[in-house]
Amino acid sequence: MTLVVGHFDVVEDRPVTLGERQSPSTIWCQSGKRKSAARSLGQTPRMLEFFSERFGVPFRAALPQVVVSDFIFGGMENTTATTLYEHVMLDERAALDISSCDLVAHELAHQWFGDYVTCRDWSHAWLNEGFATFCEHLEREQSWARRIRLTASPATSRRT
Ligand SMILES: [Zn+2]
Repeated sequence: MTLVVGHFDVVEDRPVTLGERQSPSTIWCQSGKRKSAARSLGQTPRMLEFFSERFGVPFRAALPQVVVSDFIFGGMENTTATTLYEHVMLDERAALDISSCDLVAHELAHQWFGDYVTCRDWSHAWLNEGFATFCEHLEREQSWARRIRLTASPATSRRT
């Protein structure tokens, strides 16, 4: 579990469909950073639905994401909320060049591979990290395929 103390803004993202259930999706961020949080972490509901479908078992809930300053890791998949370091927050200019999706996907994957299903002891922690890294690639593949479908013009998508 995690306990975070500070002054935060809360961003309520769209509800996530997890099997037959709907779950709220929330981001806790530094005060005044709501737009950056939505820009940087706004793909989370889509990822949760994608992974739920791909794994064949829906997430039990969309856990909150909390962005904090001076965090020792990039992210941590606590079982009550995912903690993310402040560098995940992208301004408009940075978001043109980079994305926070890999980190978000990695931490979401750990809610399965690490929190829900885990290895017997830490000597096999590579399994948790291996699955989480694999899921970054699954998400990236799905994201790029979606972008290509969205940007394909009728002329390029039509077979002749
Ligand atoms: Zn990891």
